[in-house]
Amino acid sequence: MPETPDLTEFARYAQPRKRPCLISLGEFSEEDRAALDAAVALDNKVIPAGAIVGWLAKRGIEISAQQVYAHRMGRCSCYDER
Ligand SMILES: [Zn+2]
Repeated sequence: MPETPDLTEFARYAQPRKRPCLISLGEFSEEDRAALDAAVALDNKVIPAGAIVGWLAKRGIEISAQQVYAHRMGRCSCYDER
């Protein structure tokens, strides 16, 4: 009887690919990076996702509020295991 083939490689490709998260990928000055990281770490009631979207848009980075939420919840490419 043949051995069960190893399908783990297929499983890997079947995982939905997360969009690269611009919160980490974006290039900022040291000051901006610190401000962004601090803002993102705060609660949505303190710094709404929309405010982060606007802050990033001013710096030429287009991101959706959904992506900010995903980042805050750890569901973005920043948290992928490599
Ligand atoms: Zn992220």
